[in-house]
Amino acid sequence: MTLLPAVAALAAADFRGIVPHFVAAGFTVSEPAAGVVQIVGDASRASVLLSVGVHGDETAPIELLAQLLEVLARQPHQLAVNLMIVVGNIAAIRQAQRFIDVDLNRLFCRERGLLSATAEAARADELMLASRAFFTRAAGPRLHLDLHTAIRGSLYPTFAMIPHGIAATDRQALIALLGHAGMAAVILNRSTASTFSAYTAAELGATSATVELGQVSTLGNNDPGRFAAASVTLARTLRGYTAPTIPQVPLVFEVVQEIIKHSEAFHMTFDGTTPNFTVLPRDALIATDGLVEYRVGHDEERVVFPNPSVRIGFRAGLMVVRCDVTQAESRRVQ
Ligand SMILES: [Zn+2]
Repeated sequence: MTLLPAVAALAAADFRGIVPHFVAAGFTVSEPAAGVVQIVGDASRASVLLSVGVHGDETAPIELLAQLLEVLARQPHQLAVNLMIVVGNIAAIRQAQRFIDVDLNRLFCRERGLLSATAEAARADELMLASRAFFTRAAGPRLHLDLHTAIRGSLYPTFAMIPHGIAATDRQALIALLGHAGMAAVILNRSTASTFSAYTAAELGATSATVELGQVSTLGNNDPGRFAAASVTLARTLRGYTAPTIPQVPLVFEVVQEIIKHSEAFHMTFDGTTPNFTVLPRDALIATDGLVEYRVGHDEERVVFPNPSVRIGFRAGLMVVRCDVTQAESRRVQ
């Protein structure tokens, strides 16, 4: 099928179709790196970073964002926030691959060891630098939504990961926003991570989430109807509306175990085809790694992002349990 021109342009990190409209409307527009555009007005505005294509084969967010930007560029005065757009792994998008050398979304950190020489490490540096400059120039609230699609099926087709380091009130507002964006579930991660959203939350004071908008499909073959709520909510956010007061609260989970692959002996009792949020009962074997066994420690735990074929040292999956946000807060205070 033929791609919409706006989608093809964004997938190629080409902003020429939209930039002149925002310049003509009086915004300061800059492109500090390939695939990065910053459209900035008054410093008191909220700063919103929307990133897509951090995994090159996850195309639905590119389609969604291209269409949002095309509409907004025709009414540029409606943009009520300072906006930064990131097209993450441009080379991988071109090849319809998840990554070239290594998963870009594991590199938003300073210590990268042997991965420092990868193509993606240089890209992570560019994105960290550009997002730092963007978020620290303005005084208003900071929001970062890193838009993905999961590479497997999921019992909750749309869900979001909320990283560590966000103030409780901001996190509640974020959960409400994600509910309106159609997320059936959110996962709170209390540990540090080296994802893009974890970096902007922990280092740049942003209210951030990694948003999973459904399942991977090739560019032009995504069903936009599945992302209608996300599209409407993002369009409203860029126009300065906050989420309606009637909460549409997603199910909230928290991470209780990170399954790390420490050696080539690592073996998971399920594989990359296991749907996200599959339930495992207490004591069930999750994985073995030489003499080490990972087992379910709660009455039930659900597995998210199971991927035994990751590199050694990387996360091969997360185990999550349902959590009452209010209780989780009081536990944290103690
Ligand atoms: Zn992804």
